[in-house]
Amino acid sequence: MEETKDFDYEEEKPLGSRRRRGTALRDIERHTCSRCSKSYIHAWHLKRHTKFECGQEPRVQCPYCAARMKQRGHVYRHIRQCHRGQNVYVIDLN
Ligand SMILES: [Zn+2]
Ligand SMILES: [Zn+2]
Repeated sequence: MEETKDFDYEEEKPLGSRRRRGTALRDIERHTCSRCSKSYIHAWHLKRHTKFECGQEPRVQCPYCAARMKQRGHVYRHIRQCHRGQNVYVIDLN
C-alpha cells in the first residue's frame, strides 16, 4: 500500500513583515561637556564651548560699560544692542 500525499511546499511568509529603519530619533546622541554638563547636538559646538567658553575668564570688555564677555563677537553684538551709534570695538583684558 502506498500512500501518496501531495504536500504544498510553499514557504510560509510572515504577513506584513516589519523592518525597522535605523534608530529612533529621540535617541540622538548629544555631546555633553564634562565640566558643566551643558549638552550640544553638534560635536563642533561642544568643541567651541570647551575651547572658548567653558572655564574661561572673560577676556574682552565693553568700552562703554562694565560688561565683560568671553568672545569679541559677543561684545560687538552687545554694543550694537546697548550702545547704538557708538563705535564698535572691544577692550582686550589680556
Ligand atoms: Zn562646559
Ligand atoms: Zn556695554
